[in-house]
Amino acid sequence: MDQATLIQTVVQQVLQQLNQTPAAPSVSTSGGGVGGGKDGLFDNVDAAVIAAKAAFRKLSAGGLDMRDGIIKLIKKLVVENSKQWGRIELEETKVGRLDHKITKLEILPGVPGVEYLRTAAHSGDDGITLDELAPWGVIGAITPVTHSIPTLTANAVSMIAAGNAVIFNPHPSGANCAALAVQTYNRAIAARFGIENLLCIIIPPTLRTAEEIFRHDDIPLLVATGGPGVARAAMKQTKRAIVAGPGNPPVVIDETADLDNAARSIITGGGFDNNLLCIGEKEVFVVESVFDQMMAAMERAGAVRLTASQIAALTKAAFVTENGHTHVSKDFVGKDCSVLSQAAGMSLLNKNVDLLFGETDESNPFVPEEQMMPFVPFVRVPHVDRAIELAIKHEHGFGHTAIIHSNNLNTITRMGKVMNTTLFVVNGPSTAGLGIGGEGYLSYSIATPTGEGITTPLSFTRFRRATIAGALRVI
Ligand code: NAD
Repeated sequence: MDQATLIQTVVQQVLQQLNQTPAAPSVSTSGGGVGGGKDGLFDNVDAAVIAAKAAFRKLSAGGLDMRDGIIKLIKKLVVENSKQWGRIELEETKVGRLDHKITKLEILPGVPGVEYLRTAAHSGDDGITLDELAPWGVIGAITPVTHSIPTLTANAVSMIAAGNAVIFNPHPSGANCAALAVQTYNRAIAARFGIENLLCIIIPPTLRTAEEIFRHDDIPLLVATGGPGVARAAMKQTKRAIVAGPGNPPVVIDETADLDNAARSIITGGGFDNNLLCIGEKEVFVVESVFDQMMAAMERAGAVRLTASQIAALTKAAFVTENGHTHVSKDFVGKDCSVLSQAAGMSLLNKNVDLLFGETDESNPFVPEEQMMPFVPFVRVPHVDRAIELAIKHEHGFGHTAIIHSNNLNTITRMGKVMNTTLFVVNGPSTAGLGIGGEGYLSYSIATPTGEGITTPLSFTRFRRATIAGALRVI
């Protein structure tokens, strides 16, 4: 298929999904952009790299003011389109909840911009030195299905703030909505700032195009956000990779915890977008002495408790064992509580339930697996030391996120130290760790194995020093 036909096909697909007339987003293939694409949509990596390099040069010439203007434009567009794009993303990906899909787009102005870039200066008898944060050039970014437009947009903001152009290889099941966002951003950027293809996207994305991005000589930096497969693949590359990998966040609750606050927090974080967040509460370890009160607190806060036989039925449906390895069934990932409850053999009278929960033992697959669905297992433990031990075990060394509800400072401190996770949240929902109901800023790429943490524009810069020896010190 040639480039023009391909783009036309993509647009048709997007339009069909939108269920709108052709007055909605469309791409003219006449007079295609640099490298053969248009509005950032490319069917091959080489053409995208040529276009992105040209865009990078223009962005560099535009300076910090232009970067700032582009970021503000992207943030404005994502908020304006949040309701429509949230619906389109849910229809395409079929995971998560509409209200939270929209929220995830509406909060994107919380992603930091150029204000994060700071020059360090050294001045003395020998002259002056400036330590600057320079762009890399063209970044290759892999994005997940769980937050397709949010991750793409947050990456775009941080990476452009740092002065880069980006080529995205989105998850195939969230590629059309990602292409729509890229098209919308590029059109507005081109109209206002005269730069085409600052954000490029490969349509259709495949593992082959991901590999081409990984290996391309003119892409010096990779950013991979996703599960264990892509994390492993990106870490194997010989060039610099920032890897935002999987998590399985444990929650520890001790006898000093405010149980009602803990219950509300677990429902907020674990129920968010049907537990698709990599930071979301995935399993809970509660000390025996308050276990029954904690279960009652969960019900008071609106979660629905499953019985042992209902949990057994749900577990059977929600996990698949192949070649001795158990993994989640895609049919249940990101689905509503009503779908899970049906599999559990019960019908939910209240359709507005955010989270199901119930008592399991440690061996239930809901504990070790990153289920990404709104059922959270609660495991009874004799004391808090055992709870922390199990939290370490089931976090699997991902170094991602852990949560504690306690009012014992020693216990909180001890757990924070031994978990060694990128995010450690105390007495709040996991989402507080991303600046939603807690202090701090937002990002949808939390770089865990490579250590950059909750990414900011700084994560996408390279250090450069300019030294002026023996001069320019004016005092
Ligand atoms: P996924 O691993 O199935 O896919 C993620 C992306 O990687 C997709 O674009 C996919 O096409 C690509 N991919 C997969 N295998 C690849 C390979 N071998 N080579 C190149 N590309 C490959 O994950 P998903 O289902 O889209 O997202 C959910 C997972 O991502 C969860 O494990 C979640 O914890 C994790 N996640 C992490 C963060 C973070 O910031 N750390 C953010 C969101 C999601």
